[in-house]
Amino acid sequence: MFVVFRCRKCGRFLYADESAKTRKCVCGHKNELKRVKKVARVKNEAEASEVVRKLQGTGTEFISLDKLRKT
Ligand SMILES: [Zn+2]
Repeated sequence: MFVVFRCRKCGRFLYADESAKTRKCVCGHKNELKRVKKVARVKNEAEASEVVRKLQGTGTEFISLDKLRKT
């Protein structure tokens, strides 16, 4: 499983393998996965990058986080 979350420093959306402990953002901040606020959980990297792409879109389309949060 992959998790999508926001960088705690700059707010960018990132994704990481759920089993990873940390994920370094492009801003240089090292996010501890257990401390970040996760916005979505998906089954593979392709879906994770898709979610990130949508969330970081131009903002013309509002996506409910609840919709993204599939069980
Ligand atoms: Zn960042």
